[in-house]
Amino acid sequence: MRLLLVVAVALVDADGRVLIAQRPEGKQLAGLWEFPGGKVEPGERPEETLIRELREELGIETKAACLAPLTFASHAYDDFHLLMPLYVCRRWEGLVQPREHQALKWVRPAALADYPMPPADEPLIPVLVDLLAGF
Ligand code: C5P
Repeated sequence: MRLLLVVAVALVDADGRVLIAQRPEGKQLAGLWEFPGGKVEPGERPEETLIRELREELGIETKAACLAPLTFASHAYDDFHLLMPLYVCRRWEGLVQPREHQALKWVRPAALADYPMPPADEPLIPVLVDLLAGF
C-alpha cells in the first residue's frame, strides 16, 4: 500500500483556542474539519512543509523554531496509508485567512470533538486536549 506523508499543525492562540479548517468542495473528504497542513514534498523537512503550507493556505508566516512536534496520526485509508505528524505552533505573524479552505474556526479544545474530522485526525484530539489542559 502507498505511504503518504502529510504534516499538520495545531495553531493555538493566546486564549488557548485551536484553529481548524474546513476542507474545500471538490476535494476528498470535502466539508470535514482538519488541522491545516499538507503533503511533504520530496526534499522537504516537515517544518519547511508547514511554513510553506501556512503561507499558502492561511497567509501567515512562522519559523521552524515555533513548530513543536506533538504526536503522529497513522491511518490506513482504502488506497493509501497516511502518516501525519502533528505540530503545535503558538507564534506566527499575520492574520489567518481562508485562502484554500471553505472556512476557518478558532475552537476551544473541549469543543474540537463537535466538528467532523477525517478519521486520521480524530485520534489527535485527546492528545491535544491533554497538552492544552496542562496535563
Ligand atoms: O489535503 P490533501 O488532500 O492533499 O491530503 C491528502 C489526503 O490525506 C486526503 O485526501 C486525506 O485522505 C488525508 N488527510 C487527512 N487528514 C488531514 C489532511 C489530509 O486524513 N488533515
